Amino acid sequence: MNDHTLSDPHAPAAPVGATIALTPTGCEAAPLPSLAGLTRAQLTDVLRDAGVAERELRMRTTQLWHWIYHHGVTDFGRMLNMSKAIRASLAERNSLARPAIVSEQVSRDGTRKWLLRMPPVDNRDKGAEVECVYIPESDRGTLCVSSQVGCTLNCSFCHTGTQKLVRNLTAQEIVSQVMVARERLGDFPGGQPPEDGGLIPSGEGVRAVSNIVFMGMGEPLYNFDNVRDALAIMSDGEGLSLSRRRITVSTAGVVPQIHALGEQVGAMLAISLHATNDDLRNELVPLNKKYRIAELMDACRAYPGLGNARRITFEYVMLKGVNDSPAEARALVRLLKGIPAKINLIPFNPWPGAQYECSDWDAIEKFSDIVFDAGYASPVRTPRGRDILAACGQLKSETEKLRARARLALED
Ligand code: SF4
Repeated sequence: MNDHTLSDPHAPAAPVGATIALTPTGCEAAPLPSLAGLTRAQLTDVLRDAGVAERELRMRTTQLWHWIYHHGVTDFGRMLNMSKAIRASLAERNSLARPAIVSEQVSRDGTRKWLLRMPPVDNRDKGAEVECVYIPESDRGTLCVSSQVGCTLNCSFCHTGTQKLVRNLTAQEIVSQVMVARERLGDFPGGQPPEDGGLIPSGEGVRAVSNIVFMGMGEPLYNFDNVRDALAIMSDGEGLSLSRRRITVSTAGVVPQIHALGEQVGAMLAISLHATNDDLRNELVPLNKKYRIAELMDACRAYPGLGNARRITFEYVMLKGVNDSPAEARALVRLLKGIPAKINLIPFNPWPGAQYECSDWDAIEKFSDIVFDAGYASPVRTPRGRDILAACGQLKSETEKLRARARLALED
């Protein structure tokens, strides 16, 4: 195994199909609090503390914001429209560091998985390690971000659910995942993509990271305020500038927060459904015992802005002999009647110790045909990044494994 240091964003990348462990330096080398990932209001406070006069605060906040989120700079010295005195004062108290990349894996299909180390948020915190996954296609690149470290919901088909909840991620930590990905992929102005042959969409007006899905570790609606704030930063037109229509929040069904997500956040909604009756869903998604399917469907029907241009995505993992019969496909069609919807059929991605198998291809096709004939788009999501455990439901911190490997290497 190679050891690399990623303080330089253009450090050599993992060859396709390989894993590299990277010595994290971003946190250790940057003891000062980072401004990358902060809200406008937080940046204004930082500037005030740096001695900027009240009458200049608005303009300076906009400048700082633009340098951090549009240009992606990591050096105060490059902020040339700010005075030397302000730059020096900012640099004395703050950094522009991003979370360290502990490891990077590049799948044969171009999917990339990063394990990121977040610095501690306070004296009691030991820092956090989270995974995020980049899924490139020819015309778009989707970043799947995490909202929590671990998850409380224990969905029985999900690897992440086997990892206990450690804590919520802050808005800054959520946004930082986008910052790291954009930097690593050369997606900031003047950036260079890694030369490892992995697919990264490019061309006039094409961005390496064009879409965000909250489908990584955690239940985003159990971390509502931070997800809301992170989304406001990501979608700000003067910065990262990602359209809210290209940001999808996926929930296992936290019914009381669904309306607020539409009203306050305006993100696209995805529901991790996976079953059409309460008995089975109780087993697959135990949160269903609290918020039953009927209640969930009512919340979906009332989702603000719902319409043909703004459909809800229903995710349905295909589990052999469990939820994949034609009768269940017909039940799904009945259940979604009247809801502008898209159905994502997800072939189950196995992980070590999983109790399920993926449905046979025939069963998936039959299921898909029934749903399609009823008028729903029902793409079968091609599993991506299976070889690096980056596919849906496979995310889980690899840290323990990496540590074990490091120990073994030392013992050798
Ligand atoms: S599917 Fe989502 S909500 Fe369920 S255990 Fe996995 S990460 Fe948590």
